[in-house]
Amino acid sequence: AKLQEAVQSQAEISNIHTLMLTDDEIHTVLSTGNSESFRFGQSDTNLEYMSFVRAIQQQQNWFQWQIPEQEQNARACSPLAIPGNNLSSMLCVDIDTIQVRERAAALLKNSGIIAFLAFLTSLFVVYSVLQHQNQYRLSLELIQKQRDLFLNSALTDPLTGALNRRAFHIVYASAQSQLQRNHLPFALISLDIDLFKQINDRLGHDYGDQVLSALVKSIQSVLRSSDHLARLGGEEFCIICNIPDRDNALLLAEKLRLTVMTIKIPGQESGEISLTVSLGVHIPGRGESMQDALKCADTALYAAKKAGRNQTVIFQPDLNPA
Ligand code: GH3
Ligand code: MG
Ligand code: MG
Repeated sequence: AKLQEAVQSQAEISNIHTLMLTDDEIHTVLSTGNSESFRFGQSDTNLEYMSFVRAIQQQQNWFQWQIPEQEQNARACSPLAIPGNNLSSMLCVDIDTIQVRERAAALLKNSGIIAFLAFLTSLFVVYSVLQHQNQYRLSLELIQKQRDLFLNSALTDPLTGALNRRAFHIVYASAQSQLQRNHLPFALISLDIDLFKQINDRLGHDYGDQVLSALVKSIQSVLRSSDHLARLGGEEFCIICNIPDRDNALLLAEKLRLTVMTIKIPGQESGEISLTVSLGVHIPGRGESMQDALKCADTALYAAKKAGRNQTVIFQPDLNPA
């Protein structure tokens, strides 16, 4: 039945062949046990011939022959011996040719499924990766936003947006290290609103808050991005700026003072308040502490207040401390 099947599906079988021996040859094989002289082609072995001959003798309809050195190659053989005709032949079908094909077909079928599954899996993987990337990006953005928010709240004054005292410490330390390492001089400009209490008293605390915000905006418009404005107290500010010398520091302070005088607070008639500031300038030395430097700038500021406000004074050692 197997052979029939095999024969019926001949188109599927690549290795089909017949072996033909004469009766004399069969007798020789049987008597000597040697089929050396009857070899055809490369795949035929001595044992195959012996089996073939035995099959003919025993008049088997078919037999399965396992080529010893290629265990997996089972061969279905059918002796087509016609006794007395002095001609014997055997139809040999390589069963494994079919099996291999079947296996290949199964594999192909499976590989189709495998390919489909792989495709689905890769889709899923791509989707997950994209999803992950998206989530990762969103979390990064969120972290970044949170960090910015945190840094913002940790380092800036919520009312005016100027740096707070903590940030001022950091900026001062950085400016000092730039001075020590790269000889980059910097100036401190202390700034205090003149008679701010009167503004508050006259126009209210909220209006005072608006004045503080407007002042910061106005100062920021004059400063460069490398300069830093910090709110150190109620209406007291300090600026750290990279400036080559005292003259330039004084020039900047004066520019700030004049700019403040032009501030117009929204919702108020112009000219209703005259906002002025007093400023004290100091150029810190190498390794000078923040406390010492601030004391000098404040001493100069105090001198400006004492001299009548709305003016700039640069620190000198002979100034009376605040
Ligand atoms: P001087 O010219 O000598 O500096 O006089 P001044 O009135 O500005 O100084 P003083 O220290 O007497 O008053 C500072 C005022 O600043 C008192 C306080 O009510 C006000 N102030 C401090 N912080 C704030 C704030 O956050 N908002 C408002 N609106 N006012 C503030
Ligand atoms: Mg003041
Ligand atoms: Mg003050």
